Amino acid sequence: MPNNQEDYFDVIIAGAGPSGSSCAYTLGQAGFKVALIDKAEFPRVKVCGDALTYRAVQLIEEIFPNFMPQFLDFENRSKVNSARFISRSGNDAFLRWNKSTYNCTRADLDTLLLNEALKQTNVSFFKETRISDVEILDTHVEITTNKGVFKGNIVVACDGAQSVIARKIQKNSIDRNHHSSAVRAYFQGVKEVEKGCIEFYFTKKFIPSYFWIFPVNKTDWNVGFIKMPSPFSKKNLNIREAFFEVIEDTPELKARFKDATMIGKLEGFGLPLGSKKQPISGHRFLLCGDAASLIDPMWGNGIDNGLESGRIAANHIIQHHSDNKFTKETNTNYDKLVYAKLRKELRFNTRLLRIYSIFPWFIDAGIFLFSKKNPLFFVFKKFIS
Ligand SMILES: Cc1cc2nc3c(=O)[nH]c(=O)nc-3n(C[C@H](O)[C@H](O)[C@H](O)COP(=O)(O)OP(=O)(O)OC[C@H]3O[C@@H](n4cnc5c(N)ncnc54)[C@H](O)[C@@H]3O)c2cc1C
Repeated sequence: MPNNQEDYFDVIIAGAGPSGSSCAYTLGQAGFKVALIDKAEFPRVKVCGDALTYRAVQLIEEIFPNFMPQFLDFENRSKVNSARFISRSGNDAFLRWNKSTYNCTRADLDTLLLNEALKQTNVSFFKETRISDVEILDTHVEITTNKGVFKGNIVVACDGAQSVIARKIQKNSIDRNHHSSAVRAYFQGVKEVEKGCIEFYFTKKFIPSYFWIFPVNKTDWNVGFIKMPSPFSKKNLNIREAFFEVIEDTPELKARFKDATMIGKLEGFGLPLGSKKQPISGHRFLLCGDAASLIDPMWGNGIDNGLESGRIAANHIIQHHSDNKFTKETNTNYDKLVYAKLRKELRFNTRLLRIYSIFPWFIDAGIFLFSKKNPLFFVFKKFIS
């Protein structure tokens, strides 16, 4: 534990999810003395779809060069090579890719990433250490936890959707127009359509919200339902009820779940979306991943943007640490770098969500074009395989 007054860190990272581990590994490599603090003991559960995008896999390969060989040997994950999109009328279209992506429970993935970060001997991990307050002073920061006060030059907030730091310093509150919520549960015994395939069901009743089925390992499926942000979804939509209603009312799903068993319970969590640009830094602090609201508004992926922003934060600190100023002005460079990398895709998918919410037939038509029911399927096929 920090020796209250004496122990001082170059960098304090709040939260040891993908953003925190990415930041800690990169700083550790550069020789920085890092405190990585998390309220949980790992492995810990994180409500998620458990799907790594292609970019997340690439980022993991770049940031943690020794990670992939052990992950490929790891049994409790699934390899993914296709996505299936099912329209409101039941047509389906497949998208296939050659280089595999992977799904893996977040309890496993985040522990493996954290273990990589902790191979850097100058990164100290403080588990079961809950941050309750943050004070930004002229010369340093002070982070109050249940296990003492941590002091350092700068704090990187990687503490997720309910970030204490974003709330206390940045005064961020939930903006319902840029915030989704979702539920997910694990199932066994779901009937498979294609091996290694993630599936998205667009349903008549709850458009533009959608339902997903992702394989996570040889036996388990991650099944979920996402409610889109306020301007697009019914305000009073009960996502827990909607989740079961979709299974019951969609004939194909009803048949696929006939012999399925739910493992554990249906759990929900919020998704702070990157559909609006906002300040993500200030004097002696940087926000990363969900704490910076960087989740893709259309598809809900945020592991990739967490890894990316964690790495950018680390490189920003490495570049600016010599005079230990980390002023608001210096730190706006971090905002610029993050948005230069992520904004284009976030903006594109925000527009896609808007178009699809106003004209839901847009997705139906897209799925039909690439479905085998389209008489011209052979023309479109070459674009998707
Ligand atoms: C239902 C759902 C499905 C999703 N599906 C996908 C998907 O399939 N693919 C994808 O890429 N993304 C998905 N996401 C988004 C993804 O989960 C997040 O974007 C990602 O976890 C962000 O990583 P992070 O490191 O920023 O935060 P987190 O992973 O949330 O990590 C934050 C860490 O901070 C710790 N912490 C929080 N508060 C404190 C505190 N006060 N003191 C100390 N520690 C604290 C937590 O214990 C946690 O370990 C989904 C999200 C939801 C809700």
